[in-house]
Formats: sequence, C-alpha cells, structure tokens
Amino acid sequence: MRPTGRFSPGPEHQEIVFLTGSGISARTGLGTFRGPDGLWALEPETEEAMHAELLPGSLPQLWSVWGRMAQIAAEHGPTPGHRAIARLGAPVITQNIDGLHQAAGSEVVAELHGSALHAVCLDPDCRWRDHLVPGTGPRPEDHGVPAACPRCGAPTRPDVVLFDEMLPPDALELGMRLAQRADLFVAVGTSGTVFPAAQLAPLAKAHGATTVLVDVAPPLDPSLRAAFDHVIAEDAHEVLPDWERSLHHVGGTSFLDPF
Ligand SMILES: [Zn+2]
Repeated sequence: MRPTGRFSPGPEHQEIVFLTGSGISARTGLGTFRGPDGLWALEPETEEAMHAELLPGSLPQLWSVWGRMAQIAAEHGPTPGHRAIARLGAPVITQNIDGLHQAAGSEVVAELHGSALHAVCLDPDCRWRDHLVPGTGPRPEDHGVPAACPRCGAPTRPDVVLFDEMLPPDALELGMRLAQRADLFVAVGTSGTVFPAAQLAPLAKAHGATTVLVDVAPPLDPSLRAAFDHVIAEDAHEVLPDWERSLHHVGGTSFLDPF
C-alpha cells in the first residue's frame, strides 16, 4: 500500500535520482559540517586547514581529519537511508566523502566533493591515486599519517575537494546529467545552500522532475524550499525504507500481503 499523508513515489517514477548531504551520514557519528553543532563550529582550526592555499603545510592535519572521518564511516557502515537508496537501484549525487553509498551497494555515485577513501598525488601531472582501507590498510594514510607518492615521491593528499578548489569535472558532469534525466529528484540531508547542489534541484525541476526534500530539519527560508514540490520534515532513515517497501509492493504483489 502507498502510505497516505506524505509524498511517496509510485510506478510512474522510473528515473529516481538522489542528492545526499551530510545529514544522511549524521547518525554514523560523522556529524554534519555546518550549523551550530557542525564540525566547522566545533573545530574552527579544522575548517581553517581546509583551505587549498595552505597546502602542503596542512597535509598532516588534513590526513588526521579525513583519516579519522574515513575510519568512523568504515567502522559504522551505511545507514538505513544509504541501504534503502542502494536497494532502490537509484543513482546518487553526493556531497559526502565517506564512501558509504558504495559500501551500501550503490553503483552510480557522483562524488561532488571527492572521496576520503582515496589518496592522490599532490602533483596533478603525476595522476597517482589509490584506494585506502582506513584503520587497517598498509599505507600510512590508512592511519591518518602523511606519506609520499610511490610513483614520483611527492606528498600525497586526501582526494577531497578543499575550499577554493574546483569540483571534479567528471563528477559534476555526471551529476548534471543525472539531474536532467530524473523524473523524481530527491534531496536528502543537505541544506542545499552550497553550489552546485543548490542548482541541481532547480535543474531537475526545469527538466520536468518532481522534486522532494527529505530532511528532519528542513530550511525555513522559502527561497530554499522553492525548488521542491514536496518537503518531508521527517527522518530519512524512516522515510526512505518506507518508500522502498511501498515501491517493491507495487506491480501486483501488494495484494499478497496479509493486510
Ligand atoms: Zn606522484
């Protein structure tokens, strides 16, 4: 049965695309970055280190911070929200760098802000990049310690986007393509104020998608809500599994349920 009272997707939605932010990972203990309890408010010196112009001197701090985050994420694993999105088989555009969508089984993930689970050479011409195994892998970076590129000897950095840096063009292009082809575009746990995430819902809407925001504390500013046809002020970890159940019962099997 399709729950009444709040928006729920139906069989008419063939191209569901999710945009996720730190809210979907908050219950892993990663916390969110913005807001009064966000990482940037609690650790202003960490926010300071996130500026690209402080490279390479900031590398020890960057490895310490992102290594810690990657380890927390790896130990906790995906949330019910991540798992529901993966089971829906929907592509994801994410602002998160924690790799939890892939850990949940999502196959198409546009990582707009990079990945804390990858080390990359500081020299862009070198192009060395490798996957990390936080906490247990063989590389020093797996344990939050700076190291040298095995190919050229330059320092390595976390493959995450710092302030004043360009977003990865491939991920950005994929995200725009997904938004344009969506017939249902769902933003989860993101304040939607940061470029380009703030542009993706309007882009999807302009291309005919129904747009939905699922956020336990959605923004009150009407201009931020204007991009969304529906705002669901509930916990995504309850809403998304509900959607998954209702969608998987659509198509002739729902009457087999006892109730
Ligand atoms: Zn290198």
